[in-house]
Amino acid sequence: MTTHLVLDLDETIISTSFSCKEGCNHVELGDFNLHVRPYFKTLLDFCKKRQLSIIIYSAADKDYVHLMVNSLFLKSDLYPTHILDGSHMIRANYYGFTKTKTLQKVREVTGVGEGCLFAIDDCLDNFVTDDRVFYIKGWSSNDETDVELLNVIQHLENNNDDE
Ligand SMILES: [Mg+2]
Ligand SMILES: [Zn+2]
Repeated sequence: MTTHLVLDLDETIISTSFSCKEGCNHVELGDFNLHVRPYFKTLLDFCKKRQLSIIIYSAADKDYVHLMVNSLFLKSDLYPTHILDGSHMIRANYYGFTKTKTLQKVREVTGVGEGCLFAIDDCLDNFVTDDRVFYIKGWSSNDETDVELLNVIQHLENNNDDE
């Protein structure tokens, strides 16, 4: 069974801003400057090697999400099988306005069994109490020394050994 890696966008694999210092290494996309987290390419290569497929799950609106995803993946041969955006967020509780992501929602949309889903996110409020989620430190584009995506790979390796 294929494992599907459910990736958040902002502060997990990218960071966007409206203005940057001169000489900054980014891709201009309309109003946004897109910065890709260090070792993202390494993570993609790992996914390819292990035949993991990718699902994107972002709280942002659809246009933004697709703009970022196209820029990140169009030239790679590992385009996400599914792309979930803010419209796929779930109300965290009946009375509250807070929204969250759930693996159940991913299963509903994609038809992929929850046991085959593994999510990476920088926001602890997402995927409330789910042990198939690996939380990482949020990334901002001025930190080029960041190695969290290498930790993700290590975590996936370790998880794989258990099975
Ligand atoms: Mg995030
Ligand atoms: Zn920049």
